[in-house]
Amino acid sequence: MLKPIYIAGEWKNGRGGVRTSVFPADGSINAEIATAGAEDVEEAVRVAEAAWRNPAWRNSLPHERAAILYKVADLITASAAELSALQTRDNGKPLAETMGLVMSAAGTARYFAAACETMDESLPSQRSREFMTASVHEPIGIVAAITPWNSPIASEMQKIAPALAAGNAVIVKPADATPLAALELAKLFEEAGLPKGLLSVLPGRGSVVGEALAKHPLVRKISFTGGTSTGRHLAHIAADKLIPTSLELGGKSPTIVLEDADIEMAARGVCYGIFSSAGQACIAGARLFVHQKVYQPFMARLLELTRGLKVGHPEHPDTQIGSLISMAHLETVAGFVERARADGGEVLCGGQRITGKTADCDYDAGNFYEPTIIAGLSNSSYVCQEEIFGPVLVVLPFDDEQDLIGQANDSVFGLAAGIWTENFRKGWQLARVLEAGTVWMNTYKKFSISAPFGGFKESGLGREKGRQGILEYMQQKSIYVGLSDQPNPWA
Ligand code: NAD
Repeated sequence: MLKPIYIAGEWKNGRGGVRTSVFPADGSINAEIATAGAEDVEEAVRVAEAAWRNPAWRNSLPHERAAILYKVADLITASAAELSALQTRDNGKPLAETMGLVMSAAGTARYFAAACETMDESLPSQRSREFMTASVHEPIGIVAAITPWNSPIASEMQKIAPALAAGNAVIVKPADATPLAALELAKLFEEAGLPKGLLSVLPGRGSVVGEALAKHPLVRKISFTGGTSTGRHLAHIAADKLIPTSLELGGKSPTIVLEDADIEMAARGVCYGIFSSAGQACIAGARLFVHQKVYQPFMARLLELTRGLKVGHPEHPDTQIGSLISMAHLETVAGFVERARADGGEVLCGGQRITGKTADCDYDAGNFYEPTIIAGLSNSSYVCQEEIFGPVLVVLPFDDEQDLIGQANDSVFGLAAGIWTENFRKGWQLARVLEAGTVWMNTYKKFSISAPFGGFKESGLGREKGRQGILEYMQQKSIYVGLSDQPNPWA
């Protein structure tokens, strides 16, 4: 039976053709989905426009919108195990990771419920006795939320929660490969009592559904997470329409091990920072700079840890690294490793697809790739400059810290960076000069919903999360109120 999608508050078959959702770990079928077509975009937008303008929503009080988000957070928490299992089938990440994403989605809903309830407006300093001024925020209208496949439920909630809290309507276009979690989220919003039409979930092709949404004249904001080239394309569309965009894009983040780092802590952190999610993370610490003085002991420990990682079936509780999203993506990753070899790189560990069969996992049926570490390349090499989005780490020794800063910042990207040092003064100074939206010191890939997230340079525009995150979905208005008993003077 075809799985329906959520168009303007109705569950029905989309008009964009059928897409088969498969479990990347073994190719088994999750669902046949009736994806959206351009007509569905039109219908969802038309209904969303009426829904967000409806006075019942337009004039809803912050705590009423917050109540829906709190309810959704509770529903997510209550069905966390099922949602995590579903997401693992959607994109092949291990259960422990998808559980983390599910709980993050619940936390995001709660955070923006609270942000909405407690948001203050301001009276700018009053410079006249003839009038007073107030600064208030209004919703934007319809938000197109376009998301990638690597962390579905969390990415989607990072857009849906602040957009609804701010009083907008949202139309979600999940990634082609991973529509299941977003469809489940729609069910939970429906159950929580979100008025019809304020949320649609339209799985379908980016070039058809995503494009139609972005270009639709009634869509007034594009909130996008995905690759830099798609983001740049959407930014052009937004520029033509003169509408705001939030762009969370790609990365090639440097991780730096200084000579005084705690070797064990650093090796574990670096290993996790690149290889968790099989490296399919925008923030993956993909370029590793290690001080010459500690290169030998550090690399020995890192290689030992990497060789010990358990790559396997994502539903197995001991698995640390699951399947890549697809065979096509695995081939892309393998192509980067071949390119590294051709450019003179030395593969220190990994470097090939995992095949064969064990009691726990049929590797031949999935898309499993060995955690791979490559040395012997320069930072300017192709493999150091391009985002691989797979379990591939390139290691670069350094001995001069000024030169290190130049190399670490020598990238079109600027999403994240890591620093391992016991010298906090030096670490802080380094953190301030690295060109990255997030810098972790003595930890990596840790997140707080209250800390804004986003990229420098080609890693993005705008910030998600944090108390200010809700303002990305609002527009500011100044209101002047006359106080004088006299008519307006002429000048
Ligand atoms: P992608 O850019 O190929 O696709 C992202 C989304 O855009 C999908 O839903 C896709 O269908 C849609 N899309 C594609 N073409 C479109 C078009 N012409 N118009 C409108 N929508 C279109 O990215 P991906 O392969 O799904 O995800 C991987 C990328 O996402 C990596 O580059 C990664 O770094 C990035 N990412 C960034 C963050 C972040 O927060 N900065 C988080 C996760 C992933």
